[in-house]
Amino acid sequence: MWLQAPWLSALALLLPCSFGTPNQDRIFKYRSYRETHSFFEQLQEKYPNLVELWYAQDIFPEILPRKITWGTCEGEPCKTLIVRIANKRLLTNSTPEVFFSGALHGDERLGPATVTELASFLCEEYGVDTQVRRLVDFRATWIMPMTNAFGYAAHRREENSMDPNRDFPYLHTRPERCMQTQTARAVNELFRRHLFQFMITFHGGMRALTYEWGSRNHMTMPQRRSTEPPDETAFREVGQAIQAAAGKTLHRRWFYPLGRINDLVYPVEGGMEDWSYAAGWEKSPTPITVCKPNTYGGYAEERTKYRRDSISTLVYLAEMDNYKTAPDNSLGHRLEIWSPSATNGHIARNLRMCLKTIEMTRPEVVVLPPSMPSSAGDGATSLSVQIYGFGCHQMTARLVAVPSSVVPGCLVGEDGGDLEQEQFQQILQKSVKMDATEGHCRGLSLWNASTPPPRVLQGAVPTGEEVCVLIAAEFDQQWARQTRPDPLVTPRSHAARGRLEERYQVKANDGPMMIKARRTKLFAVGGPIRLEATSATTMTAKDTVDQPALAISEETTMATSDPHTSLGSSIWQQARLVPTTTFVNLHPRPEEPEDVTYAQDFFSIAAISFALSIAMGCAMLLRNRQEVAIKANVKDAQTRSELAEMVGKDPI
Ligand SMILES: [Zn+2]
Repeated sequence: MWLQAPWLSALALLLPCSFGTPNQDRIFKYRSYRETHSFFEQLQEKYPNLVELWYAQDIFPEILPRKITWGTCEGEPCKTLIVRIANKRLLTNSTPEVFFSGALHGDERLGPATVTELASFLCEEYGVDTQVRRLVDFRATWIMPMTNAFGYAAHRREENSMDPNRDFPYLHTRPERCMQTQTARAVNELFRRHLFQFMITFHGGMRALTYEWGSRNHMTMPQRRSTEPPDETAFREVGQAIQAAAGKTLHRRWFYPLGRINDLVYPVEGGMEDWSYAAGWEKSPTPITVCKPNTYGGYAEERTKYRRDSISTLVYLAEMDNYKTAPDNSLGHRLEIWSPSATNGHIARNLRMCLKTIEMTRPEVVVLPPSMPSSAGDGATSLSVQIYGFGCHQMTARLVAVPSSVVPGCLVGEDGGDLEQEQFQQILQKSVKMDATEGHCRGLSLWNASTPPPRVLQGAVPTGEEVCVLIAAEFDQQWARQTRPDPLVTPRSHAARGRLEERYQVKANDGPMMIKARRTKLFAVGGPIRLEATSATTMTAKDTVDQPALAISEETTMATSDPHTSLGSSIWQQARLVPTTTFVNLHPRPEEPEDVTYAQDFFSIAAISFALSIAMGCAMLLRNRQEVAIKANVKDAQTRSELAEMVGKDPI
């Protein structure tokens, strides 16, 4: 460990390494091998609940069976750093996972700089931005900043003269010629234990954003064009989304041309890309090679035999620029992340791509507070909920009410994937269906100029009965579309199957990680509630005090023509809502880390304005004993901003 030696600790303190404060600007820069280690150690020290670090050679002893020094990095034995950014308190063995590889080629240094800044961005903005917090709370981001540690320290493409991106178990004819490097073995061990939904592997030397296929066995002859991967639609849609996140050039073209590896780059044998997409489902030993290398004391051939469906990642290869190591002054600065522009430096562009990829790792419905019954009718009361889709492109969502006896405590887990089949069926059968909506998901709005408003779902909730209000949603069903898939199979990736298949369950090769997904995902709007139609004129002060923290936005309600709402009348009837537990947001928030000072984010602003609305409403009720409408203006705190002018110089 670097910091165990006192003089090194002192040196680390002197390193020009500051994390800044949230939303503060700073110029991006390259870091050496040792500076990168120090940077992550300090990040972990500052955010112990969000950052975890490991060294591959320590936690995966099988990659280095004889404890030899396999390489020297800046005077120390080389170690392959692995980082996870996630809220440790909320992690489960089915938290969706995403992976970023800084550099397989040590002289292509933009990737390491990008993923290092990504890690600190996630930590610093966690306490500031609710969407970033969602990325960290409900997804796990794995990073190998210097995947090829030896190459990075030595400024060389290869690891001890072996190319790691020809070393993966794909289409090798000689088993001794794969899994020779520490780089590939470390990645292999990580993929054996985790189920990555997406990955970006960063390279340099040309500019292209590409996806599978990237090997000769998936090319048409004699045209030498890539055949269609079974997940083409998902690859293309997510590819277009991250291409848009990277932004445009001065000439108003996309910064990254998007296409398949075989078409835009070139086919390779032993590439990480095709292996990590297909190792869980293509045939072995061809093309998925069973490796038997002799380097570094060997590596057991069992390590390249995989459980069915275990490795099925949607993989993007980003060739970041024509330079392998772009000039220092082309990296840009931190505030550019929020302002897509042709003048953005490399890191802002690619960091936005990473954020969009992390978002897509988990499709979900975000429920905006507050929601409440809007009117009393004949034995029914209407409920209004504002939602938007996150981590998806298309969403179909329906509001449903289910007797709470079927869903005790309204606990459906993160998206209903954990529920037993019998309980899940009962929920669907006993649901009272309300409004449905379908269309585009909103997704991350950190840098988007035009954010569509949330969708409004309304419906009559049975009164006098304790119910759970849920949202049943399906995402990205268009990902099933195929034209001429090669091979002729349905989409294979975890990300697509978790959205498309009625039930998709898979376990990692080693360790406890698993995916438990259903096509129809369930999201609780809150805890159990019981609605009773009553007249507001009978409300007492105590009644009012007992009201849960719910209100309805007039603007929201006016946006719909639901027959259950008494719109068009200036006098609203007030429903009485009896919570049997507290009414909570979709996900309980973790305790806030002590070392983070929170800015007033959307939820705190919403909560304050909402509390004020409630207080004013209560006062009016007590004074006038009349029906009142409580308005809570809940709008996304995101301000609309025009896309920055496409002026200035292209950084290349
Ligand atoms: Zn490369």
